[in-house]
Amino acid sequence: MTGPQEHAVVVGAGLAGSLTAVFLARRGYRVSVYERRPDPRTAGTAATGRSINLGLSARGMAALDEAGLLDAVLARGVPMRGRVVHRPDGTTRFQPYGVREHEILHSVLRDDLLRLLVDTASAHPDVSFHFGRTLTGLDRDKGTVEVADPAETVEADLIVGADGVFSAARRHLQHGLRADYAQEFLPWGYTELTIPAGPGGVPRVRLEALHVWPGEDALMVAHPNRDGSLTCSLFMAHEGPVSFAALRDRAAIHAFADAAFPDARELMPDLADELLAHPVGRLVTVRTAPWRHEDRVVLVGDAAHAVYPFFGQGMNAAFEDCLVLDACLGRHPDRGTALAAYEAARRPHTDVLADLSAANFTELRARVHRPGYVLAAAADRALSRLLPHRWVPLYTLVAHTTTPYADALARVRRQRRALAAAVTVGTAVAVLAARLSLRGRAC
Ligand code: FAD
Repeated sequence: MTGPQEHAVVVGAGLAGSLTAVFLARRGYRVSVYERRPDPRTAGTAATGRSINLGLSARGMAALDEAGLLDAVLARGVPMRGRVVHRPDGTTRFQPYGVREHEILHSVLRDDLLRLLVDTASAHPDVSFHFGRTLTGLDRDKGTVEVADPAETVEADLIVGADGVFSAARRHLQHGLRADYAQEFLPWGYTELTIPAGPGGVPRVRLEALHVWPGEDALMVAHPNRDGSLTCSLFMAHEGPVSFAALRDRAAIHAFADAAFPDARELMPDLADELLAHPVGRLVTVRTAPWRHEDRVVLVGDAAHAVYPFFGQGMNAAFEDCLVLDACLGRHPDRGTALAAYEAARRPHTDVLADLSAANFTELRARVHRPGYVLAAAADRALSRLLPHRWVPLYTLVAHTTTPYADALARVRRQRRALAAAVTVGTAVAVLAARLSLRGRAC
């Protein structure tokens, strides 16, 4: 049983770290959060390092709801009822995210969300944040962390590594163990661009949707903001003939945009300035084990499992980690058992999420605008309306339910097998009936 004296150190005050702090404080821990960046509430985007929007869906919403934060987050976001696909000929097509009213996503600014989480956690009397303090060491057996600026050794009963994809906590946790670690960089990177609001703050495109410009060589998605602007993420290869490296000057940028996203060009007056000025981020998948050590160290969020952003699930899965970890700590009085139960409940599913996220890269880039995809998606939705308990599309299971990722995939495979079997039987019956009727006529 957790006593009020127990001390938890959380490494990283990102999305997962801040939410974990809220949950741990509620469980009675004294929580110290060490974050290498400055306080996001006073230092702006420089503190968070990213100005991106994130698509919040069911899993993230369930965790925020449990923390009592959902209403405040939704009030800061913009609902997205589906995606608007911009086709190469300049026409657009709306594809709804679901068949039911609540099956929508919410676009939230990462900075806004982070400030809210840090504010909420730090309002708790047992939580303290230490900004500008980088983790430099961790002793998994003693339960201590080394932090810099100033150098200090901090003792903890529980250490939570929430320090993102290149986690130092993970490195120290696994050092010298028979640990598995696989890191895969996508040859593509991303940068942030803007579609500003039109005159009087009127959006230049339909606001309550994710906008997607598919393309084999470059993919762009745009999330809506409350001020009528959209924040775009442009994805393309780091190097090569069509790549960030090739976009060295305004002429090259304008020629590229005219060819790749003809209807987006006029929506983005600052395109060239932004592309020349903004950094290009890397996209990484990380699969690893173990996520924990005895009853003292555990990983959450990208530190445990980083995925490509093409299913919009990285943050949602990170928040779900926090929720499951909290539930395991509540269910198992022995913390070692709780941490083991948490890893067992999460790791097989986040590994499947990594596969789904990689598969969605191909889908968003090359398929969403093709007639075959549009037909298949419409058939998926029609079946789901017709047989609501028997047929649930994969996207619905992943984005609009909290069905564990591997279970969602297994269910969809079962549905597809059952449909294929029904079609085979139906076809055989039809052929047999046709033959019998021919024979009948011949007699
Ligand atoms: P982070 O947010 O990376 O936080 C880690 C924190 O740890 C940081 O504050 C960092 O400064 C700190 N830190 C690191 N090292 C140390 C150290 N040594 N000492 C102290 N502190 C340290 N997810 C979605 O669900 N929906 C989306 O639509 C979506 N879109 C995305 C689009 C893009 C382009 C990208 C790149 C990602 C997207 N994601 C999305 C994924 C999402 O951003 C991440 O999964 C999420 O931020 C992970 O949160 P985290 O707290 O685990 O890690």
